[in-house]
Amino acid sequence: MSIQPIRYFGDPVLTTPALAVVDFDKEIRTLVADLTETMLEAPGAGLSAPQIGVGLRVFVWDVDEALGHLINPTLDLSVEMQDGEEGCLSFPALSYETPRAFKAVAKGFNMYGEPITVEGTELLARCLQHETDHLDGIVFIDRLSKEDRKLAMKEIRESEWFNSSLALGADPIVKLSPHSPFGKGI
Ligand code: ZN
Repeated sequence: MSIQPIRYFGDPVLTTPALAVVDFDKEIRTLVADLTETMLEAPGAGLSAPQIGVGLRVFVWDVDEALGHLINPTLDLSVEMQDGEEGCLSFPALSYETPRAFKAVAKGFNMYGEPITVEGTELLARCLQHETDHLDGIVFIDRLSKEDRKLAMKEIRESEWFNSSLALGADPIVKLSPHSPFGKGI
């Protein structure tokens, strides 16, 4: 198990759809352990494999004091929506009002390849949607209103982390602190 560097927006791995897991082997269990350890250290409420540079459909969460992980997820969403600010560990210090379904039912597999279903409302539902988006190469700023997305892009372009990642032109990027003052990123 080891803490991995978190990739920042601008890294192509974050906008590339991830591949389904085929072999539920020791490597997958190590990936889940690394994701969990990296998320807890950040700290974050969720983390997907692409955020540590691994293009596989795996994510973890830490919501309401419960750790979880899900592999190859499919989502069933409520029509009812929820309001709330959202951030992301790949966008340090950014937080924007992001519309999400109030409830999510996620089906997938655990690290042993056993089918599991996870149901959540509010923050867990938000997290399941945010992390599944990561696996599809979608980031949370893609879910913002047109106006907020413009503001977010401006904030990103002016951020130290975005400019440093471009300047370095390579990953991993040095992790900056402090993290979002608005709460835990996902
Ligand atoms: Zn995220």
